[in-house]
Amino acid sequence: MGRTRLTRAAWQPVPAEFQSRVDDDGLWRELRSPPAPGAPRPALFLDRDGTVIEEVGFLSRPDDVRPITDALAAIVRANALDVPVVFVTNQSGIGRGHFGWREYAAVEERLAALIAKAGGRIDAVYASPHPPAPDPGAQSPHRKPAPGMLLRAASDLNLDLGASWIAGDCASDIEAGRRAGLPLGWLAPTGYGARDAARARSLAGPGFTVVVGRGLAALAARLEELAPGRS
Ligand SMILES: [Mg+2]
Repeated sequence: MGRTRLTRAAWQPVPAEFQSRVDDDGLWRELRSPPAPGAPRPALFLDRDGTVIEEVGFLSRPDDVRPITDALAAIVRANALDVPVVFVTNQSGIGRGHFGWREYAAVEERLAALIAKAGGRIDAVYASPHPPAPDPGAQSPHRKPAPGMLLRAASDLNLDLGASWIAGDCASDIEAGRRAGLPLGWLAPTGYGARDAARARSLAGPGFTVVVGRGLAALAARLEELAPGRS
């Protein structure tokens, strides 16, 4: 019998079958591929809702998973180039008590199956169940726009954040990338992309490029930049 591990945000018990995936900070950390030995590698970080699948708001039913074709193409291309693909997803519906880890896992499994059907795979998944804190100072370091999930992935998977990219549909995705030290954030036009375009653009600065309004097929076409010589 393991001890009962709780998601601190909502004091929800984590079902026994998922306790190995939820750490003491309440963060879902799932490595689907082993870290590669040798020098740290660039990765492609992807937001999930509104970026890889259509935004439906507190998604908790596998039947509501509808992949975005351009995102699947980017995942398949990254796989072909041996660039690790890492999901970093805010799932505050868990911390708010709208649904639990079982529903979350069922959605993730459906998505993984659809990605596999398209010929792709995800190398790791990080999900923050933490709800927004009323006091910004009390915010979880893992909930985007904080960079905690990216930093954790870098240490788990031996990733080079200084050469990695992030794509998402919210300015908070782009900001998390900037705060993690990435050189590029890509705001997809899907999901909340139109709403957040101006805010995302304002995050660009020295050493941090922001691409706005272009779909992930265009990102896929540039992924060779993360893997010179591997095309
Ligand atoms: Mg999103």
